[in-house]
Amino acid sequence: MIYLDYNATTPVLPEVLEAMMPYFTTEWGNPSSTYKFGYKIKSAIETAREQVANLIGAHPMEMIFTSCATESNNAAIHAALKANPNKRHIVTSAVEHSSVLNYCMALETEGYRITYLPVDREGLLKLADLESAITEETSLVSLMWANNETGVLFPVKEIVEICRSRGVLYHCDAVQAAGKVDINVGNLSINYLSLTGHKFHAPKGVGALYVKRKTPMASFIHGGHQERNLRGGTESVPLIVGIGKAAELARKHLPRYDDEVRPLRDTLEEGILKSMANVELNGDKIQRLANTSSISFQGIESEALLILLDKEGICASSGSACLADSDEPSHVVSAMKSQSAASRQMVRFSLDASNTTTDVQTALVAVKRAAESLRG
Ligand code: PLP
Repeated sequence: MIYLDYNATTPVLPEVLEAMMPYFTTEWGNPSSTYKFGYKIKSAIETAREQVANLIGAHPMEMIFTSCATESNNAAIHAALKANPNKRHIVTSAVEHSSVLNYCMALETEGYRITYLPVDREGLLKLADLESAITEETSLVSLMWANNETGVLFPVKEIVEICRSRGVLYHCDAVQAAGKVDINVGNLSINYLSLTGHKFHAPKGVGALYVKRKTPMASFIHGGHQERNLRGGTESVPLIVGIGKAAELARKHLPRYDDEVRPLRDTLEEGILKSMANVELNGDKIQRLANTSSISFQGIESEALLILLDKEGICASSGSACLADSDEPSHVVSAMKSQSAASRQMVRFSLDASNTTTDVQTALVAVKRAAESLRG
């Protein structure tokens, strides 16, 4: 198998599994228990909190563990609305992940007003659109760091400045940026930032929400006193230990990430774009993650190409894994190129440092063969 779908999920690294194992086997106590067997496990959670905080330059006390980024995104939006009950307007973009978009759509049915900022053909935002969308009623701006389908990077620093100057809270879905770009929330006035472990080699089912000091936070899951009363539910200690270890490894690997992944991605991308007719890149060529390439193949439905690639053992996708079974065209490419069929014809390749040049060469041959056979 050649796996080129690392934006969908990543394997758990052996060091991560090793760190987690004792918490499945010998150290299985409840961290809230008052006897030693339980409460000593709390310190494992606190170590993980530090490790995850380090990945993004936060203070450990600014991190809340969650079950996934979908929960982190929902919890951040919920907290901002709770903090400003009279401000019933949110600004987001048309290309956010479904965990933001579908919550916003649900809020619309409850009378909230949502502005979905458009993007241009390259997937980029116009900051002037953000400026003019914010009103006295706006409680929150929710704009992602890196797009999961195209890898396009939003200008987070500039967004921070606009939000700060207009006095609105800013939530950033940084799921695809974590471990791939240097995130330092210490230098940025981001109020809420969402992460999920399974995109950087931790297991599925554990995420984190950064909440900047003095930013309002309300419990989204009501229950016990866990996570300083901000997220009820007995902590999944093994998974939390896993996201901590994975964050530590991702931080260490970060300086090498770009140099290792970019040449692989570029070889694949340039190989496709230069040797095949009627193919187009989706997303800005420069302002983009080093590992992601979204390409539309004119005249070919994404699913047909993916099936042939799968037969050759190549895993890629037609957009977000969360919507892969929905048969819908990519909402991200639709927002970029509304007048074309590109959204139905796109394939996302997302690589990792563990891919090899052989993977890329094999994939290149397979993509060409599959596309030629579909075009007849
Ligand atoms: N946000 C982005 C940008 C994502 O790519 C994903 C997962 O694909 C999520 C949020 C949701 O993450 P999770 O599966 O942990 O809920």
